[in-house]
Formats: sequence, C-alpha cells, structure tokens
Amino acid sequence: MEYFAPPLQALIEEFAKLPGIGNKTAQRLAFYIINQPEEKAQKFANAILNAKKSLCYCKECQNLSDKDLCNICSNPARDHGIICVTESPKDVLQMEKTNEFKGVYHVLHGAISPMDHVGPDDIRIKELVSRVAEGGIREVIMATNPNLEGETTAMYISKLLKPFGVKVTRIAHGVPVGGELEFADEVTLSKALKWRVEL
Ligand SMILES: [Zn+2]
Repeated sequence: MEYFAPPLQALIEEFAKLPGIGNKTAQRLAFYIINQPEEKAQKFANAILNAKKSLCYCKECQNLSDKDLCNICSNPARDHGIICVTESPKDVLQMEKTNEFKGVYHVLHGAISPMDHVGPDDIRIKELVSRVAEGGIREVIMATNPNLEGETTAMYISKLLKPFGVKVTRIAHGVPVGGELEFADEVTLSKALKWRVEL
C-alpha cells in the first residue's frame, strides 16, 4: 500500500472521484497541482467554486447558464417553435457545432433508466411538457442517445406529447446505435438531424 502525506492523499482521493479518473491518473494530477505555484493552484480552486456558485439552470431550456435565460433561449433569431431535446448540456454543444439547427433546446439532464433507478420524475420531463402545453411549439426533435435508455426516454416523451398535437420526431441516420451523442462527429450528427423521422 502506497503512503502519501494526508493532505496529498486527500487531494488524490478527490481527483479519483472524478468520472474517468483512475488512481494512477489521480496521483499524476495531484502531483501536477502541488508542483504549481500557489497562485495557479488558487486559480484552479477558484474556477471550480465560481462555476459551482454562478451557474444555474436556464428557466426555459434547463441548460446550464449564468443567467436566468440562456444565450440561445434569449436569442430572437432562433426558431422558438422547434425544440431539440437532449440528455445533457454536452449534447447541446455538439448539436450547435453542426450549425444545422436553428431552433431551441431542452436539456433533460439524464435519461429514463429503470436499471439505475432513474424514473421520468428524476429528469426534466415535466418542464418540457409545460413548455409544449404553453403552445407555439410546432415540432419536438428527440435527440436523446441512440441506446436503450435514450430510446425509452424518446418513446416515453413522444407519448406524453401526443395529446398536444405537436409533431415529435427522432434523429435517425448516421448516429451509431448503442453509441453516445457526445462522441458523434458534426457531419454524422448533422445527417442524423436532417433525416429525422416522426415518432
Ligand atoms: Zn435556455
């Protein structure tokens, strides 16, 4: 068993809690930080706290924002009649990179996954339903991941939205089945958007 001074051990443990970071990488990151001048370490710590303190959820699309209404929702040039539904803020970024989509978004912050005990009430579905219920929405594009959880979520939401008479479509071609949107390239994603099918 390796031994480090307790403050170093504590730092390693915090890094190791991050997604995708194993023990070896956690050690490497911790050593990197302690070898930095104090003001650099301070800047890093401040960035974490500031992000945590100043970010909120956009009241319209639920994406992370530093304002009540995010830049996309407050942009009058966007088509507010088309909502693209994604699982995470990272997917919005991917979608924006395609330069193909001019509508607005709705971020669910997860997908329905009975295996992980994530039900419809654990993600931001009711916020989406209220948006559609308010009217003025012509189309809702389900851009959840093309895996079991994403498909389940897309089907669930499309059933919920049917009574409102809104067109619900699903991105289709190009995105590898079982994959995650986050890892799809722009061309693939823009094709998927173009060839979406009605649900
Ligand atoms: Zn927004």
